[in-house]
Amino acid sequence: MPAVVAAALLLTALPILNGSCARPKHEVSASPVTTAKGVTGPSSTIVIGRAPSPGAMTSIQVPILAYHFVDLAPVQGRWGRRLTILPATFEGEMNYLLNAGYRTITLDQAYQALTGLVKLPAKPVIITFDDGGLDNYTVAFPILLAKKLTATFFIPTGYVGRKGHMTWEQLASMSKAGMRIESHTVHEVDLRALDSTRLSDELTMSRADIQQHLGVKVRFLAYPGGKYDSGVIAAARASGYLACVTVTPGTALSLDNVYAWPRLSVTPWETVAGFEKALP
Ligand SMILES: [Zn+2]
Repeated sequence: MPAVVAAALLLTALPILNGSCARPKHEVSASPVTTAKGVTGPSSTIVIGRAPSPGAMTSIQVPILAYHFVDLAPVQGRWGRRLTILPATFEGEMNYLLNAGYRTITLDQAYQALTGLVKLPAKPVIITFDDGGLDNYTVAFPILLAKKLTATFFIPTGYVGRKGHMTWEQLASMSKAGMRIESHTVHEVDLRALDSTRLSDELTMSRADIQQHLGVKVRFLAYPGGKYDSGVIAAARASGYLACVTVTPGTALSLDNVYAWPRLSVTPWETVAGFEKALP
């Protein structure tokens, strides 16, 4: 279970979010933009709703919501109570997103917006789930489907099919319905503590497992517990991940922080009203 979750309440992100409210909204150039040095492609500068200026941030504001479990009773384990949201609360939050004009996008789309390949909707949001709990399939998935929302599920592949976790068949049906299945390593351990061989195994075997079972490309990783360091980033890059997400609160995504994209952890004690305030 993540160890840094309690620190990452939505409310703690409020100062950051308030600061971002004054920014122009999410307008991303539809084609690669030429930088001052004349370079185009993935490292190009993307201009967000304003004319280029020296030192402009290559950044988009996209809240990535981090959920774990949605169920009537907290899942078992040390972090269950802190990470389990009531189905009615989750449904209320999804209704708020829709009523407020948010549109779910995928991590791929966010990445492609930064490289100038796609244009994002006016109010993009990315919904993510960590840990592969069975409730993700039995409770959250039907709610998402009914509301035509897309979400990304970060799966620790070593736990697939075990008690309280989703099976490959369930993950396959979610994938076919448009949900994204990405990596949360194999054993969901603190990656900073591993030697280079084990670190590489955790990162590559989870990708390979998902790709083999579901026939989808795996390009994104959620660090277990949100924990990483420069060695973990280097290994994630070497293992072929395009971007990685943390539990550091924030909404600014860029190619500069592509191996440490922030997320907003949604906690069970968050009210829908608080949820509304925390979003940009
Ligand atoms: Zn986790």
